[in-house]
Amino acid sequence: MERSNEWGKRMGDIHIMKTTGILRNVDELGRFVLPSELRQTLNINIKDSLEFFIKGNEIVLQKYEPTCIFCGNANDIIFYKNKKVCLECSDQLILQN
Ligand SMILES: [Zn+2]
Repeated sequence: MERSNEWGKRMGDIHIMKTTGILRNVDELGRFVLPSELRQTLNINIKDSLEFFIKGNEIVLQKYEPTCIFCGNANDIIFYKNKKVCLECSDQLILQN
């Protein structure tokens, strides 16, 4: 783990991808089944939201967890003008203004 992080740093934004060996076919409506092994590994449960990202020609699928736009904190999130801000950062913003 530590070794791959170091390698990732040296290579800039390149991250090592681990193959799972799992293939899924997309059906005629664009659906596919997210393998249960991956759901368990990534703690994805029924009704959880998933967020899609495009990275070059790759699709990155991530469990949707709202985090603060300033610090990445996932606790005590409030929405301000459609952006997620944690209470701590919102307090700091108030103090600065
Ligand atoms: Zn924050």
